[in-house]
Amino acid sequence: MSEPIYGELDARAAAVADQVVRWRRHLHQNPELSNREVQTAELIAEHLRSLDLDEVRTGIAGHGIVGVLHGSQPGKGVVALRADTDALPVPDLCGADFASKVVDQEYPGGPFPVSHACGHDCHTSMLMGAATVLAGVREKLPGTVLFVFQPAEEGPPVDEKGGAAAMLGEGALDDPVPTMAFGFHVTPYPKGYIGYREGNQFGASCLIKIGITGRQVHGSTPWMGIDPMPPAGAVLTGIGQLYRQISAFDPVTVSIGHVEDVGRFNIIGQTVTLWGTIRCAVEADMPEVRRRVETLATHTAQAYNCSATVEFLQDVPAVHNQAAWIDAALPTFRRVAGADKVTQTPPTLGYDDVSVFVNRYGGLYVTLGVQDAELGPQGMPRPEPNGRGMYMNHNPHFYADDDTLVTGVRLHAHVAYDHLAGHLAPG
Ligand SMILES: [Zn+2]
Ligand SMILES: [Zn+2]
Repeated sequence: MSEPIYGELDARAAAVADQVVRWRRHLHQNPELSNREVQTAELIAEHLRSLDLDEVRTGIAGHGIVGVLHGSQPGKGVVALRADTDALPVPDLCGADFASKVVDQEYPGGPFPVSHACGHDCHTSMLMGAATVLAGVREKLPGTVLFVFQPAEEGPPVDEKGGAAAMLGEGALDDPVPTMAFGFHVTPYPKGYIGYREGNQFGASCLIKIGITGRQVHGSTPWMGIDPMPPAGAVLTGIGQLYRQISAFDPVTVSIGHVEDVGRFNIIGQTVTLWGTIRCAVEADMPEVRRRVETLATHTAQAYNCSATVEFLQDVPAVHNQAAWIDAALPTFRRVAGADKVTQTPPTLGYDDVSVFVNRYGGLYVTLGVQDAELGPQGMPRPEPNGRGMYMNHNPHFYADDDTLVTGVRLHAHVAYDHLAGHLAPG
């Protein structure tokens, strides 16, 4: 059976491609940190309203937005297309002339340089483009499309709520309830490749905050107080050995990325706070890893006559792709990218709270390659000769190829149409 609408989706995607690049560059130059996506949300809402959608819900869990598009054809399917909108406290060394120079002076813990080093500017602009495409074919759409623009994927400030769970907590997707959630992440992989993994695509994650408390004292008389620095060092060293206690067949990382003290070169401060993250490829390992981090911290502190508190915050479940959904989606992916550009990728210990949507409604989360890379003999990506190199997400040098964005627009549009038309659903 021929499906003439695919050609129309592609033509409409090509027509909006330049606009998508302009949005992307604008967002890239004006990045906003988690839970502060004010202007980003305004740009999105203004665009969705211009499309005459059935509904544009704003201000969800901070600056979240849901656009609702009811197709004119009868259909029960409801596909939620998701993009995250926030940036990172990372300097922008991507090398483009639209690199960000933004510094957020007000953000808790800041000031921070701000950049889209995770590529959420691409995600946002591609979904805005897909909204244009799908609104243009609403007469032929059987069912409903929800355009879900989610803030705070990178994690809000620790004393704020936000992100996917907060959106669901506010009932963002209660009516109509999605029958599929879909999204993808840009990655340092060959341009235009769609990567998927059956099982856990991204790991489970949680933030660790360890507070070690002693008693402040002058640096010349440490015995008159209690120095929290040595146990902080011992906890750091001990965390590097935790892997000895976890099965080597289950990848786990525990990393401390930020150490905060309140002393001075000649003052031993009262407290040291360690901020870090746990990642588990197998979600079931998380409680055990937490227990061991807690034992290590509290007992180590005690050994130095200090005390420790351990908090686990911002729990994000693993992104799990079910085999039945993958099987159903592969024909769509191959049509969009070309059969030779749809590949299985290894698991990563990155995280993405899109898992909250996919776990609840079913669906998929995949990756889209956007860098000057090629696949080596073992199928592993390597830099293309004379290209811009390969840089991981969150690296200040992370970049994304503008010409690839149209593939992402088409991916959203084809997946949405195929799901609503009944071609893409687990058997
Ligand atoms: Zn990220
Ligand atoms: Zn990201």
